[in-house]
Amino acid sequence: MEMSPHQPFITTKLDEFVRWAQASAIWPMTMGLACCAIEMMSIVSPRYDTSRFGAEVFRSSPRQSDLMIVSGRVARKMLPVLRQLYDQMPDPKWVISMGACASTGGIFDNYAVTPVDTILPVDVYVPGCPPSPDALIYSLMQLRREIEAGGKANVLARNA
Ligand code: SF4
Repeated sequence: MEMSPHQPFITTKLDEFVRWAQASAIWPMTMGLACCAIEMMSIVSPRYDTSRFGAEVFRSSPRQSDLMIVSGRVARKMLPVLRQLYDQMPDPKWVISMGACASTGGIFDNYAVTPVDTILPVDVYVPGCPPSPDALIYSLMQLRREIEAGGKANVLARNA
């Protein structure tokens, strides 16, 4: 294919274009459950700057969000609340499980704390207690790859 410098054009498939757009404008929901949320909040600061990935717009309504970052331990009482918020998010939507507590229950070996994937379909798990902001950004990059590839697989985002 030849391209004239005066008439540049590109070709692509519509679904690939849509996936590229979705991956380039992920809007997380404003929701923090425990200490991991402090690390999550810092990803929009100038030091980490998630606007590089189009993911800096934390929305206060689930109806305007397509990513739920479960940042912190999940008490059983919160499970129906999380599910309701998730159900209110429009499709397509994604879930990142941030930290040992959200992913496994963490150090809380008791009946009240439960892994979030017992009630939500998790796309990316981020290990650590707490995971660093860098690890969360790495999980965002993994999620972007998954979205662009058109898949929905469980991924363990381990960058260090
Ligand atoms: S993984 Fe660690 S930092 Fe995160 S909520 Fe649990 S105890 Fe707090």
